[in-house]
Amino acid sequence: MKYEAVIGLEVHVQIRTASKMFCSCANKFGAEPNTLTCPVCLGYPGTLPVPNKEAIHAAVKAGLLMGCEIARFSKFDRKSYFYPDLVKNYQISQYDLPFCSGGKMHISGTGFSGEELPDKDIGITRIHLEEDPAKLTHFAHGSGADYNRSGVPLLEIVSEPDMRSADEAYAYLTTLKELMRYSEISDCDMEKGQLRCDVNISLRPVGTEKFGTKIEMKNLNSFRAVHRAIESEIERQAELLDAGTVLKQETRGWDDDAGSSYLMRTKEFAHDYRYFPDPDLMPVTFTDEEIEAIRATLPEQPEAKRNRFINDFGLTAYDAEVITADRKLAAYFDECAKVAKNPKAAANWIISTLLSLTGAAKISVEDSPVTPAMLAELVNLVESGKISGKIAKDIFPEMFETGKDANTLIEEKGLSQVSDSSAIAGIVAQAIDANAKQVAEYLAGNERVLQYFVGQVMKLSKGRANPGMVIGELKKQLSEKAQG
Ligand code: ADP
Ligand code: ZN
Ligand code: MG
Repeated sequence: MKYEAVIGLEVHVQIRTASKMFCSCANKFGAEPNTLTCPVCLGYPGTLPVPNKEAIHAAVKAGLLMGCEIARFSKFDRKSYFYPDLVKNYQISQYDLPFCSGGKMHISGTGFSGEELPDKDIGITRIHLEEDPAKLTHFAHGSGADYNRSGVPLLEIVSEPDMRSADEAYAYLTTLKELMRYSEISDCDMEKGQLRCDVNISLRPVGTEKFGTKIEMKNLNSFRAVHRAIESEIERQAELLDAGTVLKQETRGWDDDAGSSYLMRTKEFAHDYRYFPDPDLMPVTFTDEEIEAIRATLPEQPEAKRNRFINDFGLTAYDAEVITADRKLAAYFDECAKVAKNPKAAANWIISTLLSLTGAAKISVEDSPVTPAMLAELVNLVESGKISGKIAKDIFPEMFETGKDANTLIEEKGLSQVSDSSAIAGIVAQAIDANAKQVAEYLAGNERVLQYFVGQVMKLSKGRANPGMVIGELKKQLSEKAQG
């Protein structure tokens, strides 16, 4: 490839508040259309907006998470345009004094295809707060507008043009979503429109500095679509540049079904939004103390958590990534690790077994019948040798099914591990007596037969014999055979 891609993202995130940005209507997805409205969010003349403090704090939190400068003085502006999704013919937004500016977000981990990406910081230009317009739906016979979305608090997070590939854009979005979810700013459910993303892309010859002409791509409904759209756009622009075409700034729409984009509008039709300060809203000010108080409400972030799990509990990078992908799962593991003598084993149980059980039962780990304390107890029973790993595997699904703890099930079923040496010696003798042919093979030098005997002893003991002791006892009795 003789071109390098330059990519910047504009991401809209709906803030998860109880009420809308400037009125007391519920901020809720999925209600009957146009049932969550009032004169304010329907833009009736004479109504006045009252800012939602919770939403403003969420904007500040987002800025703190991304290392932005938080404005001590900012304001809301009116952005004018005329469209059916906008009741007042202007959107309350922020123009020159956004709440947050000049931050960065560290991306690492994996790209879309799962390969490891090098560590990198992506600059954050600004984060501002605005009101969401209504949702338009287009049918064969016309269009519908749902004003339930009108006035929902919306963050716009604008990145610097710092990404160079579809994979980096994918990692950026994944990290951003994780930050928003951890901090309970937003659930970022794209299917509910809680996270929407526009992509800006240009190409430049490899080794040059100057940016090429950017194309903005809209209508991206999943992270996968973002990835595909970028790859397709890089190819499209490269072909045009190869043919000597001079690109013009334009906005394109992505058609995920067709796997291609189409022209929406060119720069000639760019809007003049006629921004001016909203006279109905007071400027917003923050003191250092107020900002620090908001910072104090932020939970431990995924990256810090991952490092703690790796350093304090011996998890692998992979384990840590899987477990911190969901804050509730990370909290589950943290609880477990407080009590489990072997936290790494607890992590293995969570990844290999718990997640598939909760997945199949379609429940959150919070609601798992196997609580963190119960899993920690199971791990400790294996650690102390009271039960074998095999038995633990057998009873885990039953713990999940019945909600009974490991000790109860072990009692009920008489499953505790046999670590009594005379009992083990007896079972080993039984296995040796019953398998003369294999004894002969072993004595002829075939050491692999030992594994066969271990299997026999485990079978005879119904999986309860302590495997370490079994091997010792087998070797002992077999060598006695050799001598006698
Ligand atoms: P506009 O004025 O068209 O909105 P901005 O300068 O505000 O453009 O940038 C919007 C987004 O486009 C930002 O995310 C920015 O990083 C990105 N961007 C700006 N210039 C380029 C470029 N030449 N190539 C790719 N992305 C760009
Ligand atoms: Zn309202
Ligand atoms: Mg812009």
